[in-house]
Amino acid sequence: MSAQRRSRGMRTRAVHVGEHPDPVTGAAAPNLVMSTTFVTEDAATGFSAHSLTDDAPFLYSRWSNPTVRQLELKLADLENGEDAVAFSSGMAAASGLFLSVLQAGDHVVVSDISYAGVAELARDSLPHLGIRVSTVDLSDLDELQRALLPTTRLVYAETPVNPLLRLADIQALGDIAHAAGAELAVDSTLATPLATRPLDLGADYVLHSLTKYIGGHGDALGGAVVGRRERLAQLRHAGVIHFGGVLSPFNAWLILRGVATLPLRMAAHAESAGRVARFLEQHPRVTRVIYPGLSSHPQYALACRQMANCSGMLTFQAADGAALARQLPERLEVFHYAVSLGHHRSLIFYLSTDELQETSFRLDAAHLARYRMFYSGKPI
Ligand code: PLP
Repeated sequence: MSAQRRSRGMRTRAVHVGEHPDPVTGAAAPNLVMSTTFVTEDAATGFSAHSLTDDAPFLYSRWSNPTVRQLELKLADLENGEDAVAFSSGMAAASGLFLSVLQAGDHVVVSDISYAGVAELARDSLPHLGIRVSTVDLSDLDELQRALLPTTRLVYAETPVNPLLRLADIQALGDIAHAAGAELAVDSTLATPLATRPLDLGADYVLHSLTKYIGGHGDALGGAVVGRRERLAQLRHAGVIHFGGVLSPFNAWLILRGVATLPLRMAAHAESAGRVARFLEQHPRVTRVIYPGLSSHPQYALACRQMANCSGMLTFQAADGAALARQLPERLEVFHYAVSLGHHRSLIFYLSTDELQETSFRLDAAHLARYRMFYSGKPI
């Protein structure tokens, strides 16, 4: 990290990094450049000669675009990374990463509870491509150690994990993955760079669904991967230029606008979620509250060490959850009954234990028993 970067606070970096007044008009806000193609003055600028270096001219927006590039530079800075690659969604970022790092015959370790889309991709799609997948409880370092193979190329973690908010110790995972010759990718969507910077803890890639906290307004899908320049150049070629999951400049512009207030929003999210979590913990109909900022969270010590902000999502169980959930859409006055997270609007959504198992990894009996233990002996 450069000395200049270190000396500036996150609020300043979130507003200013990657932005410059327009050299022609002096406009201070980022330009929204919707052009798909760029006129080149140099007839010698051939397609193959057009490498994606920072000073290369823009040629075609599937390769790079000025508004998207501004967002990538800002995200790289906030995560203390060398570079970032933006995608059309968090899932495009995840699939781009898997498919550019892994080949047929490789092995990948994925957390046994993951965001549903990633769980389905790993469970249903990757094996069809000849990629071997092991699902592992990444809060158990011995289980990870036992799962590693000579062909393991990638360990893919999510912390906190959506929706059970289990944490993974990024530094420990990185040490184990690297000793086995594998890389570590961390989906840090729920944490955001205000809580945790996985690259500083040894991760090779950090992934975000920009649709959530980073965009922050529920009006733009997007995704990004941040990491080392040379690895990300490969990811851009395979994951974006070839697979084509490009972020629209309009969405990049909306997300850039969201990033400027990310530090302020995350402080507010954590404060409100903490208050709601403490309220629910005292509520007679609530049987369990899972929030990394509560001392009752089984990994509270890790949360204190790894998360400077406990973020805005919490999970709770009620004795009569299904009946309660049926009343929610009519009775809610402020919250929206809707999936997703990280907006300025508060959202709530019910998932039964069966749905949770189905959307994660169809957990087997041994893993279910493990979760019962993890979350203090009560059924999840
Ligand atoms: N990662 C996490 C942790 C998520 O919660 C989500 C979506 O909810 C994704 C990835 C996928 O992001 P997107 O919906 O932008 O494709």
